[in-house]
Amino acid sequence: MSYSKEDLRDLYDGRLPWHKTFEIMSKPKDDDRFDKYVEILQERVSYPERILLPLGDHLNVVQKGGERIVKCDCGHEFGDWRKNWKLNALIFARDDTEKLEEVYPGLKCPDPNLCEVREFYCPGCGNLLMVEAVPVGYPLIFDALPDIDAFYREWLGRPLPEEQEFRDMTYEVTGEWGRELE
Ligand SMILES: [Zn+2]
Repeated sequence: MSYSKEDLRDLYDGRLPWHKTFEIMSKPKDDDRFDKYVEILQERVSYPERILLPLGDHLNVVQKGGERIVKCDCGHEFGDWRKNWKLNALIFARDDTEKLEEVYPGLKCPDPNLCEVREFYCPGCGNLLMVEAVPVGYPLIFDALPDIDAFYREWLGRPLPEEQEFRDMTYEVTGEWGRELE
């Protein structure tokens, strides 16, 4: 089973009529959905690097030379995909009542002694990329660390050249920051 790229493009943009959207949602995933989705994304970005995996709104993991990095639609690069990209984002923390009330007015406002809301923006284009609501002082959430090699090797059946070790390298970045302070 396969859908046209036009239908999928309209699906992602929210322009597909509901009966067609419902039909696609109700059926098993079409075999070539991933490849078509990546093709559509690739046509929309201005950079030449190959998209390996979409990460979310505006963000993709791309192949750049021998590296796999997180890149924004605008071209801004956040570094190795195994290091939480949020460490290189602009962060606005709603950590007092005044800032929280801008989005949660009145009784909906959480207690700033218990909760903070963090907004992550791209330093290149200023787009809001992600929001997280966490207990005060909670480490930045690493939303997704996909095992890209396993996905290409075991699910798509076409392994990528130069497989890379799969591990979370986020704390190497924060460890380095710690050493700089010593
Ligand atoms: Zn950007």
